[in-house]
Formats: sequence, structure tokens, C-alpha cells
Amino acid sequence: MTSKTINIGLDEIFSLAKAALINHGANEENADAVANTVTNAERDGSISHGLFRIPGYIKALQSKKVDGSATPEISEVTPVILKCDAKNGFAPLAHQYGIKKLIEAAQKFGIAGLSIQRCHHFAALWPEVEAISEHGLVGLTSVSYMPGVAPSGGATALFGTNPIAFSWPRPGKNPIVFDMATASMAKGEIQIAARDGHSVPLGTGLSSSGELTTDASEIDKGVLLPFGGHKGSVIALMVELLSGPLVGETFSYETKERDNGDGGPAQGGQFILAMSPEIISGKDTSAQTEEFLKKYNNIDGTRLPGLRRHENRKNIGPRAVNLELINTIKKLA
Ligand code: NDP
Repeated sequence: MTSKTINIGLDEIFSLAKAALINHGANEENADAVANTVTNAERDGSISHGLFRIPGYIKALQSKKVDGSATPEISEVTPVILKCDAKNGFAPLAHQYGIKKLIEAAQKFGIAGLSIQRCHHFAALWPEVEAISEHGLVGLTSVSYMPGVAPSGGATALFGTNPIAFSWPRPGKNPIVFDMATASMAKGEIQIAARDGHSVPLGTGLSSSGELTTDASEIDKGVLLPFGGHKGSVIALMVELLSGPLVGETFSYETKERDNGDGGPAQGGQFILAMSPEIISGKDTSAQTEEFLKKYNNIDGTRLPGLRRHENRKNIGPRAVNLELINTIKKLA
């Protein structure tokens, strides 16, 4: 694919994404939710989860792996444990339905969990936790995927790229948010580096013959490694457990076994937790948090996680998007 780009406005990004989804059978509600997630990713500079994902979303609609008209169903298992059956639909609509109820429960009881089942997640995780922190709550979420990452010491893929995201509320300010793959690099980033012919740092992954390499296209055919050696590997293991059995869903390897291989998002689960610092601590924690962040920001060379995206968000102008990708999506729309 060419690395040429074209400037395109956020409204146009939304319309293009929505039109492609509607054209392949998604209903208004689902197309709006997915197009919104895609547009927000482009807006924040999370390009591997923006328009880049549209062809995959469409493949899943074409193969009927995903129901583009699904209406998620929320049930209350206990007052603080909510379950969302995504009914085989895309994740963004399940979030719209489930997170609102999760927030209400955490604001009332101090802590609440949401398990999402039968869901197809193909996006970044920060939208979920930011939505929670907009309401004064701490958010934590994770999803697994399909095996692409070898546990530390091995050369066989067992983990997904298994992202985990956390956010902490700051009244009147953007929350502190981190959102990261537990793989050394997200799969989408590897695919983009392979597409654009860029090399990646040694230690990112292994070729199909199990050798360390800086060639992104070789790693795309081989396996990724977890970030940070054995420490990242154990966090990836935790994500497998939280996003699979804890929420009544599959491990990455089981997800792959039932996937139809169409290249679209596989069906899996998501774990989401919301906590109220006010209720748990018994006081207003904002002044203490701000004092700590002042010390953090006073250290040269540091920046808060989430800051890059929040700065990008201030720019409401057009975004440079890969030209070939735009042409592909225009054909799909
Ligand atoms: P990065 O390594 O780019 O960033 C990880 C986190 O670290 C971000 O929150 C980032 O904040 C923060 N950060 C980066 N640099 C600094 C710094 N110098 N100081 C402090 N914080 C910093 O993310 P990944 O490549 O690991 O993941 C990319 C995305 O891929 C994530 O959004 C993830 O959810 C998504 N993903 C989704 C999957 C799925 O199955 N749905 C699978 C795997 C990944 P900032 O954003 O401000 O740069």
C-alpha cells in the first residue's frame, strides 16, 4: 500500500465510515456507534484503530460473523455486577448500552463491574475508560483477542495483543489515561509499519522461524513478544484470565478456534470495572491527586499518559489519512 496521504475532515471521516457500514448491512444505531469510535480514533491520532479498521469491520458484516443490527441486552446479575450480551454485535454499541448502567451502579455502591459477552471488539480501549472517568470514577478494562504473542521465553503464540486501559478522573480536566497493548507493539501498528516499509525495534517480535528481527512484515508472519520481558508476559496472562473466564468468554486460543478467519474482529469478551475514589476513600481525593501530578509534571522529561491524544483532540481540522485506504473505503461506501 502507498504511504501517500490525503487530508480529510472529521465529519467526512464519520460519513465515510458510516456509509460503508450501512452499505454492508449495519443499522443506523450500530453504524453511528462504530463510525463515532473510528472518527474519535482518527481525531486523537490513534490511527491504527481509525479508518484503518473499516475494511475489517466490513469483512465481518459480509461474512455475517457480526450482526450489524444487534441490540445489546443488559442484565443485572447483582446490584454491582452487570452483564451485557452484545448479541454478536460490534463493541461500540455494547459500550453505549452497558457503560451508562455501570456508571450508575459505581456511583451508588462505590464499585461495579461489567462483563461483556458475544462482542466483536476492534478498537482502542480508551473510549470506555474515559467515559467512566467523565463521571468522577476510576476505569479499568481489558480485552483479549486471537493468539499473536508468545509468552516470555517461548516462540509460540498463545496470548492476544491483550490491551489494558486505566483512567483516573480529574474534575474539570482530562483524566489520566493509559491504554496499551501488552504486546511490545499493537498488531495494527505492526501492520502499518509493514505496509509503509518501516522497521521496528529489536525485541518487538520473532520471524516465522523464531528469530529476532526488525522487519515488521516478518513479524507480521511470525509472533509478537510481550512488552518488558517476563513482566509484560504476566500482565498479558492476567488479561487472558480477566477478559476470558472471568466474564464468561473465551481465551484468545479458543477465540481463534471459533473464528471464521475473515480478517474482521473476532467474537470475545471484555472486562470493565468502575470505582468511585470518593466512596472508597471516604473523601474528596482531587487535591491530593493534583499535588502528586504537580510533582510528576515537575520532573523533566515526563508527560502524563493520554496527553498526546488530548492535545491532538484540540485540533478540529482535517487529518492526513492513507490515500489508498480512503479509496478502498470509498468503494465500500
Ligand atoms: P502506546 O505504546 O503508543 O502507548 C501506551 C500508553 O502509554 C498510552 O496511554 C500513551 O499515552 C502512554 N505513553 C506513551 N508515551 C508516554 C510517555 N512518554 N510518558 C507517559 N505515557 C506515555 O500504545 P500501544 O501501541 O501499546 O497500543 C495502541 C492501542 O492499541 C491502544 O489504544 C490499545 O487499546 C489498542 N489495542 C487494541 C486491541 C484490541 O483487540 N481491541 C489489541 C491491542 C491494542 P498517549 O496515548 O497520550 O500517547
